[in-house]
Amino acid sequence: MQEWQRFEQAHVWHPYASMCHPAPVYAVAGAEGVSLQFEDGRRVIDGMASWWCAIHGYNVPELNAAVERQLGRMAHVMFGGLTHRPAAELAEKLLAIAPAGMQHVFFADSGSVSVEVAIKMALQFWQAQGRSEKQRLLTIRHGYHGDTFGAMGVCDPVSGMHHLFSGMLSQHLFADAPAAATDAEWCDDDIASFRQLIETHHHEIAAVILEPLVQGAGGMRVYAPEFLRQVRRLCDRFDVLLIIDEIATGFGRTGTMFACEQSGVDPDIMCVGKALTGGYMTLAAVLCTARVCEGIHADGRGVLMHGPTFMANPLACAVACASIELLLASPWQQRVAAIEAQLADELACCRESERVADVRVKGAIGVIEMVEPVDVAAVQRQLIAMGVWLRPFGRLLYTMPPFVVTSGELGRVTAAMCSVVR
Ligand SMILES: *Cc1c(COP(=O)(O)O)cnc(C)c1O
Repeated sequence: MQEWQRFEQAHVWHPYASMCHPAPVYAVAGAEGVSLQFEDGRRVIDGMASWWCAIHGYNVPELNAAVERQLGRMAHVMFGGLTHRPAAELAEKLLAIAPAGMQHVFFADSGSVSVEVAIKMALQFWQAQGRSEKQRLLTIRHGYHGDTFGAMGVCDPVSGMHHLFSGMLSQHLFADAPAAATDAEWCDDDIASFRQLIETHHHEIAAVILEPLVQGAGGMRVYAPEFLRQVRRLCDRFDVLLIIDEIATGFGRTGTMFACEQSGVDPDIMCVGKALTGGYMTLAAVLCTARVCEGIHADGRGVLMHGPTFMANPLACAVACASIELLLASPWQQRVAAIEAQLADELACCRESERVADVRVKGAIGVIEMVEPVDVAAVQRQLIAMGVWLRPFGRLLYTMPPFVVTSGELGRVTAAMCSVVR
């Protein structure tokens, strides 16, 4: 270990980690294509795309150029009372690819903050309609929406952090998550708990918030498009807004630009983040319909009460524009479909292991759910020895690689996963 690493280990926190008993961390010196280069010279294929973000891989010439061009003009200016081309261009690009009805964009600095803003939009909407009793949120179990307080309040109440902060969290409503993974397996019982909660509580519910089709950090679960269709219908019937959190699923990850498209469902409010900048910088956005926007202003006072210091950071907006252009110019549908087919093919054999509870694949996401919790440090050591970077959590060993991964590179990831399972 080098001197700086010893200092780092003694002083710098890592995500969901102990400062006193630090878990192993690997020092990265550079990244190129789909590989990370460790300080000690080892190279690993990044099967995590840096937590869903680096869809184009690393050191991407088009994205580097966008940052450099913008850097020569200005790195940042405040967004209060000022504006700039990168923000306008990014809003235009987002609205062009977003689900029907999305009309307005609020830029936030991270996914969690965008969830806070989406919640504020929903609450302010009903306040301005004179219905301030509509203050609660309805969601489903196994969700994940971020680590800030508003977002934590709608994360899974068991695997989330409710037990640590229960006194500080708003009391929201949790329906059972659907069991069916596809429309073919759909059974109407899957919506029963959700329907019962919205029927009973709609007068106090401002919005439903959901991850569409794939629940990410709350358990890497896949659910049927039919569930989202029925949620949309119930929201309309009971006067409840629908917030769709596409932070993990957006920008092609599940095979369509946004996962909600597979249900044919349009949100009232939508959050995007993660892959928005191709993994270059932190940026998120909240999109909403004209109805939500006009509703917030209905009482004549209405201003949306949020304004981050680094709102619409020009560097981040510029690289996000370049990332969307690069995505649209690439054969991303074919790439994601090819990744999906290969993951399904090469992870299937793990089903036979008695240590494996389930194997599931959706778009460029491949998940092996073990029966027992994974020993993260030991498994990572084995994976790295095979040239692969993954970060398992709980009972889950999973990958969501950059879209530019070759079949040879992906084959190494799946072979390493199967080997670890064996
Ligand atoms: C990662 C994630 C968030 C939080 O985003 P951060 O940028 O980490 O704050 C929210 N919702 C979903 C679905 C996510 O996957």
